[in-house]
Amino acid sequence: METCLFCEIAAGRIPSRQAFSDEAIVAFHDINPQAPTHLLLIPRHHVGSLADLTAADAGLLERLATTAARLARELGQETAGYRLVINCGEAAGQTVPHLHLHLLAGRRLGWPPG
Ligand code: AMP
Ligand code: ZN
Repeated sequence: METCLFCEIAAGRIPSRQAFSDEAIVAFHDINPQAPTHLLLIPRHHVGSLADLTAADAGLLERLATTAARLARELGQETAGYRLVINCGEAAGQTVPHLHLHLLAGRRLGWPPG
């Protein structure tokens, strides 16, 4: 299998600005932030995209989302509001083929997204 950027980040072999980690997930700052707060939350194990989740991943998305909500609260973004995004596939703009949840906050976010 080719080397996966986010697997390498999860393993600590490629540096990142970590915001949180536990045995299942890692949260780190996006290298090209699209908002004052832009975190990425990933599973430690490789999952290519939302479309590749299996029964063995039960509870993973909930864990990613509840961790993102907690981080948003701890960063003081809960009252103003924030957005969670998962891009799945090329047309949606997924560029890294390892499942990740974007947490965007700190500015007014337009709708619909581009
Ligand atoms: P997506 O377009 O949904 O696949 O999002 C991939 C995200 O990963 C983009 O927002 C990139 O800026 C971000 N990214 C790419 N390489 C790195 C890296 N080495 N460290 C942190 N974020 C990265
Ligand atoms: Zn991976």
